[in-house]
Amino acid sequence: MSKSKNQQGCPCGGPALETCCGPFISGERVPETAEQLMRSRYTAYVQGNEPYLLATWHRSTRPTDKIVDRNEALQWLGLEVKSALRLRQRKVTEGEDFVEFVARFRIGGKGQRLHEVSRFLREADDLGVQRWFYVDGQFPE
Ligand SMILES: [Zn+2]
Repeated sequence: MSKSKNQQGCPCGGPALETCCGPFISGERVPETAEQLMRSRYTAYVQGNEPYLLATWHRSTRPTDKIVDRNEALQWLGLEVKSALRLRQRKVTEGEDFVEFVARFRIGGKGQRLHEVSRFLREADDLGVQRWFYVDGQFPE
């Protein structure tokens, strides 16, 4: 994996938006893993794509407030998905997965980091298609 950045790079750190998160966000493809969904949701945050964030949020925890505030001076700086090994060693429940990541952002001129272990469930959506949904997160620090 290259750490180099270029303008065509996917916001999540992938090589290109068109071959990474783009097809998930456009609905062309369904993310096959919780990590793919997590990455595409990060990219949707970068793009301010609220419909995609809501559509991929589990109905039990989906917010009713606005998620993306365009007046908020929040700038996403990068995503690092941590090794999933420790999480995989847990007892695995069918249709449930966890992704640990650190997302960096800047707000009010100050750099911050969000360290989260997100929980995902795989269920049928409104059209009966099996897909991953973001449920909630824990904060290890
Ligand atoms: Zn991506």
